[in-house]
Amino acid sequence: MSLLENFVKKRLSNYQVEVNKVDENLPKKISAEKKVAVIGSGIAGLTSAVLLSERGFKVKLFERDNFLGGKVGSWKVEFSDEYTANVEHGFHAFFRQYYNLREILKKIDSYKYLIPISDYLIKTKDHGDFSFANIEKTPIANILSMRKSGIYSFKDILSNPKFAKLITLLTYDKEKTFAKFDHVSFQQFADEVNLPPAMRLMFTTFSRAFFAEPQHISMAELIKSFHFYFLSNDHGLIYDVLNDDFQTTILNPAKKFIEDNGGEVIMNSPFLSIQKFENKFVIENENFDYMILGTDIHGTKKIFSNSDFIKYGHTDYYNQIMNQKKSQRYAVLRLWMDKRIGDDLPFFVFTDALKILDSITFYHNMEKESAIWAEKNNGGIYELHSYALPDNFDEEKVREQFLEEMYAYFPELKSAKILHEYIQIKKDFTAFHTNLYKNRPTPITDIDNLYLTGDWIKLPIPAMLMEASASSAYYAANDIFKKEGIQEEKILSVPEKGIFA
Ligand SMILES: Cc1cc2nc3c(=O)[nH]c(=O)nc-3n(C[C@H](O)[C@H](O)[C@H](O)COP(=O)(O)OP(=O)(O)OC[C@H]3O[C@@H](n4cnc5c(N)ncnc54)[C@H](O)[C@@H]3O)c2cc1C
Repeated sequence: MSLLENFVKKRLSNYQVEVNKVDENLPKKISAEKKVAVIGSGIAGLTSAVLLSERGFKVKLFERDNFLGGKVGSWKVEFSDEYTANVEHGFHAFFRQYYNLREILKKIDSYKYLIPISDYLIKTKDHGDFSFANIEKTPIANILSMRKSGIYSFKDILSNPKFAKLITLLTYDKEKTFAKFDHVSFQQFADEVNLPPAMRLMFTTFSRAFFAEPQHISMAELIKSFHFYFLSNDHGLIYDVLNDDFQTTILNPAKKFIEDNGGEVIMNSPFLSIQKFENKFVIENENFDYMILGTDIHGTKKIFSNSDFIKYGHTDYYNQIMNQKKSQRYAVLRLWMDKRIGDDLPFFVFTDALKILDSITFYHNMEKESAIWAEKNNGGIYELHSYALPDNFDEEKVREQFLEEMYAYFPELKSAKILHEYIQIKKDFTAFHTNLYKNRPTPITDIDNLYLTGDWIKLPIPAMLMEASASSAYYAANDIFKKEGIQEEKILSVPEKGIFA
């Protein structure tokens, strides 16, 4: 191991931190009968239900929709008399530092479905392709080796006195970073430090993957994400994906685990308001000792707006929740075409958006069901994402624009026929925009025994997206375990601070 690797590994606590000390003398399971209502079946709700049912709590999970999973939901669409397929919100990357989510995948026996992606590739129109498969894995060395991928040059360093300001990326510290950068957008930061074009482009794809255009995203959130995804661990940018639809690979196994542990999963059951009577939550005449909301921002605000005891009894908290913001719109177009390409590419490729196209996924290479369809029809299944549609972009033009940009990047698809298609344009994601951090709620709320979980919840650890959803559920579950005098669940994290913080 080189001196640098040694130094970095030591500074970064071997890339993994155990956040809490689990007291193994305490019992694992609860002996009294305690009931927990979990609302919402996204990653946060499912994680809560898995953790609590495993420890002997009576869990009832209420889901509004007719499919499980929220943003990792999977539902059937009939495209013709002969062809019905599972569709989803879109491709999901399971990074290797998603330590808490991965523990859940192990518990529910889903880990076996993870397969690695071959490269982290960004295709651009003006700068060629950027491949990150072979960059160094050790933090710092990885940044230095990006020069070889053409992300920046010696000239950029020597001719730009402000280049040194990029050291900020290595100094992530929750309190300080958010105090200093939450009001600054990535665009302002990039202008201020005169960021080289290729580097700006790389950060822009990163920013958009958090559902925000560069003029909206908080630079503090971007520094946190760069720390979490790239500068706090030695996994490189290579991640894993599930090798089949989410119903098969996560949702059925999670439901089975919860039910095998005595829990109930109730679909088509929108939860309307929180009612509390004598320290118990009441849902349709049934009393619950604890309640965990795993609802997204929109769903949570709707529930709070109907919950008079919070509105009038905890007014500041009520206002804090009602001020949470959703992201810009995002769009996903899945195409079934009579031509197969992409066998030499990773399953998922970032594209520098000409206007809206952020990525293309080659489903026929990744998912078993899609591979079967592709084989049978001599075709390919492609998914196009726009994570942040420009605010004034006409929704009627999304499909046409998607196709135009796909043909610009993959002209060989121009001649292919589209056999089936499925488009979604939504506005239900968490905003990671400037000035929102201080107002984010934590898992433990102002109301006794009520918890909030999800990717929009403020955590002590630097987790993001699916890992934030899962981790927030760990924090909620652990608070309940502590109250009930049983063992906490181990929470893992990448190091909480950057290497030069
Ligand atoms: C296109 C796309 C691509 C993505 N790619 C990635 C990726 O590559 N990697 C990654 O880590 N993350 C990715 N994400 C983000 C990831 O999907 C989310 O961060 C995560 O799934 C959020 O989970 P959650 O449980 O916090 O919320 P959600 O999934 O939003 O779950 C909320 C649940 O609450 C339910 N609900 C709401 N109101 C009520 C109510 N009143 N009663 C009952 N139920 C209710 C909803 O129906 C839903 O099931 C992506 C997201 C999208 C949309």
